[in-house]
Amino acid sequence: MKLHIHNTFSKQLPADKIHDNYRRQVLDACFSYVTPKQPSNPQRIHIANDLANKLGFSENDMLSEDFLNIFSGKTTYPNTHPYAMCYGGHQFGQWAGQLGDGRAINLFETNHNNQQWVFQLKGAGETPYSRSADGLAVLRSSVREHLCSEAMHYLGVPTTRSLSLCLNGDEVLRDIMYNGNAAHEKGAIVCRVAPSFIRFGNFEILAARENHKTLEQLANYTISNFYPEISSKGPQKYLDFLSKVKEKTIDMIVHWQRVGFVHGVMNTDNMSILGLTIDYGPYGWLEGFDYNWTPNTTDAQNKRYRFGNQPYIGLWNLYKLANALYPLVNKADSLQEILDSYELEYLHKYESMMHRKLGLQTTNKAFIADTEKILQLTETDYTIFFRNLANIEENDTPKSAFNKITDAFYHLKNDEIIKKWIQWFEKYLLLLKHNSFSDIERKEQMNTINPKYVLRNYMAQLAIDKANNKDFSLINDFYELLKKPYDEQPNYNKWFVKRPEWARNKIGCSMLSCSS
Ligand code: AMP
Ligand code: MG
Repeated sequence: MKLHIHNTFSKQLPADKIHDNYRRQVLDACFSYVTPKQPSNPQRIHIANDLANKLGFSENDMLSEDFLNIFSGKTTYPNTHPYAMCYGGHQFGQWAGQLGDGRAINLFETNHNNQQWVFQLKGAGETPYSRSADGLAVLRSSVREHLCSEAMHYLGVPTTRSLSLCLNGDEVLRDIMYNGNAAHEKGAIVCRVAPSFIRFGNFEILAARENHKTLEQLANYTISNFYPEISSKGPQKYLDFLSKVKEKTIDMIVHWQRVGFVHGVMNTDNMSILGLTIDYGPYGWLEGFDYNWTPNTTDAQNKRYRFGNQPYIGLWNLYKLANALYPLVNKADSLQEILDSYELEYLHKYESMMHRKLGLQTTNKAFIADTEKILQLTETDYTIFFRNLANIEENDTPKSAFNKITDAFYHLKNDEIIKKWIQWFEKYLLLLKHNSFSDIERKEQMNTINPKYVLRNYMAQLAIDKANNKDFSLINDFYELLKKPYDEQPNYNKWFVKRPEWARNKIGCSMLSCSS
């Protein structure tokens, strides 16, 4: 297996001088060298073959012993030096100090077809940043991260990728719901891949420690490698940088709202500086459209990271990044000005996205507001509703149009609500008359933005339950299905259904904790 190793982060930024692997505060450095833990009996579960091809691996590479050994942490690729990154973060609104890669280890960077990639193992053992935890990951969370990263990519949502999923052959102790019922689970390792895993928190920790020299180095590194279009100098350079990160963050969150993805833990240490969805923990997919929904039981009280709050948290997190960049700019007003435009820019992009979901060509903010309201009157499946809405034809009556979307309802018996829906369709059909699209054109357009298949929460759980019994077939099925989420794929129709009742309150399906 021949890779084009091209390290930039570890070459261009300061390393921790201590090489021993014990937990500590790491000062004056961006990362610490560390070796992955030896897995006792590594086993391949799944490889994302399309991604592997894109990264330059041949079929033979994927089947090789080397591949398994390197991406399970058993051996290191010749002449490479794995490392864990130092970052801090605001968790649930509070400054948490140094966090860092507690269970992620960057193996190396490659350059393939002019594209820079970092390969990172998640769950490969302790690092100086592991604090009180073990550096490991369990099978359930690794299946969730592997499948969802790839599903998000194929949905067109900016995300880190997942190359492979392996068992390490070891047992890991976890208390799933933090209620004193700890149990052993299978340990697993995912190899994540992205141009960079730098987070807002990498900047925050340096600013908090008043290490302005390293802060400037990290900002310059990030700009020259990932924002080469920024050509300004001096403080303006960092202002332009914040503007770009703001844009990318907005784009990412608009995509989340479009497909109904709830991240669940939007702490600043989980915010990528490249606007990628990162750190798939207790995330979830909207079933019934509900702005108040969060999958994360750890956040059940305040619901800080609920679906409807994601756009505001994006801004809150950008404030923390702006504070961290302040020492490089020294102009609070200019930083503030960039953040002041967030809300309008977000709304503009959100509304344009919602128009496309509805298949409308003319702006109608009031109708979007009506739609959001009516979707919350009774439990309505977000994915099924928008997918079936594309079947409406201009010649439909409000009643016949309504009949085309009733599969999206869980229990709609209330006549008042049905009346409201009929009124909504009266308006919708009128708006369609102003479109220049034919029914067929509109359907085609809507089906490129409204997915038919997403990784529903219970689907991930079914794949996990089977995997825990050594049957990995559903992981592969879902990977193949979710590669084409906008295609009809009639042979997979059984996954285009609402959540079954058994999954409503099941742990793993609608309730997840941070314990993984
Ligand atoms: P998260 O909320 O999962 O993004 O994690 C927050 C912090 O806790 C990060 O610094 C993680 O690396 C660390 N962390 C989470 N789980 C573990 C674990 N099992 N072992 C070590 N560190 C962990
Ligand atoms: Mg994290």
